[in-house]
Amino acid sequence: MKNVLSTRKLIFQWILIPLVVIILIDSSFLFYQGDKLRQETFDKDLAETAKTLAVIFKKTSSKKIRDIDPNTISLLLSEPHDEMFYAIRDSKGQFMFGNPKVPYQEADAENLADKDFLNVFSDEIDGKGVRVVSIPIEHAIRNKIATYHIQLAETRLQREEIQRQIIFWIIIPQLILLVSAMILVRFAITRGLSPILFLNEKISSLSYKNLSPIDLQGVPKEVDRLVGSLNNLMQELNLSIQSQNRFVSDAAHQLRTPLAGILAQIELALDTQEASEIQTRLKNINESSKRLIHIINQLLSLSKSQSPALQHSELEPLDLVTFTKKVTSTLLPDADLKYIDLGYEGSEEALNIMADEARLYDLIHNLIDNAIKYTADHGKITLAVDLKDSKVRLTVEDNGIGIPEEDQTMIYERFYRGDNVNAAGAGVGLAIVKEIADLHNARIEIDSRQDKKGTRFYVYFDAIAPK
Ligand code: ADP
Repeated sequence: MKNVLSTRKLIFQWILIPLVVIILIDSSFLFYQGDKLRQETFDKDLAETAKTLAVIFKKTSSKKIRDIDPNTISLLLSEPHDEMFYAIRDSKGQFMFGNPKVPYQEADAENLADKDFLNVFSDEIDGKGVRVVSIPIEHAIRNKIATYHIQLAETRLQREEIQRQIIFWIIIPQLILLVSAMILVRFAITRGLSPILFLNEKISSLSYKNLSPIDLQGVPKEVDRLVGSLNNLMQELNLSIQSQNRFVSDAAHQLRTPLAGILAQIELALDTQEASEIQTRLKNINESSKRLIHIINQLLSLSKSQSPALQHSELEPLDLVTFTKKVTSTLLPDADLKYIDLGYEGSEEALNIMADEARLYDLIHNLIDNAIKYTADHGKITLAVDLKDSKVRLTVEDNGIGIPEEDQTMIYERFYRGDNVNAAGAGVGLAIVKEIADLHNARIEIDSRQDKKGTRFYVYFDAIAPK
């Protein structure tokens, strides 16, 4: 849930924050442009009125400087929202008549050269903000030409009202835009995340005790492949857990039998005073203990060989010919106990493979061990290493009891034992052999048939160039 929320937060951050920034930039730009236009329009209007005032001034004062008729002026300067003030100044900017409070600012010389230049500025009259325009005119009074400045000041009430309206009409649509964008983004995110939320809900209801597959019906199509893979994974996990459970109970069963035997022998020994019987019981206990240790060692070896496939870097080049001879020699004493002729008859030339020496030892040892177990006294076991179909082939051949065809696919299962065997064992040896062969990417074949006595195990390894 934490991740889902943080994804939502991330999307909000990456969509909404930039959106707010864009809207702010956009609104500022709109406001700046709108306000500029408003200012220019008002200023032009003011300048037009000032020009009319100039015309009146020219008409009424061609002979004598005098104030303009108040009636005319009140008609011209009446505005429903604002107050207007005028002043006329001489060429030096000295007040002549009108309202002396109208502020005066001389235009810069360079601005005067521009014929579109309008000398307009903001100031105050009696604490009220005003916009003042000042227009220079050439005028002849008593045939004496001079420059006069016609000035008109206007309070800014209407301008400010319009500015407020501009702000209002910019902000409102932008706010509507922002809120709708937020709603849409929220909606889209919730919709977009719904497959993940769906999956989250389904997965959180699972536990290792309940790994039932997620029902593909109603699964959003964006995640149906993911759900399919998850279901496969869970199925594998389920099988693996079941197999582990089976393994534990089988292993416990295998260990219980010799332990029960040991216990029975101990009880019998405790019940008797006869030294010879005690001796026999102790011998039996000794045998059972050895069997127990053998089973435990095999189980340990199996669990070790069940680790993930060996990395190529963990394998080392190894001459299988020399190695097979070495492992064979360690089992000669066991073979001698049954008068079995154990020997090597394969290639004498080195044949190299990539191998994990310790594990390969277990593989060959288990195969020879089985061959000794399932071959009668005075039998024969032959090992060989040769090249076959460009693979390095290890052969372990015996002339023992053989493996019935129906058992041949089952014997690699853990704890599986053939019906035709009497010798002690836990049914783990070949499971280990198979695991180790898999780790080495090697293939195992069995040849045991009625028309040819005994069993031949073949293990095919990839050949490598000599060391
Ligand atoms: P175990 O030998 O302890 O029973 P394994 O896993 O080594 O367990 O072998 C599984 C079964 O395969 C044996 O019980 C036996 O039936 C059969 N088997 C294995 N090797 C041979 C062999 N060389 N000859 C005959 N049967 C064999």
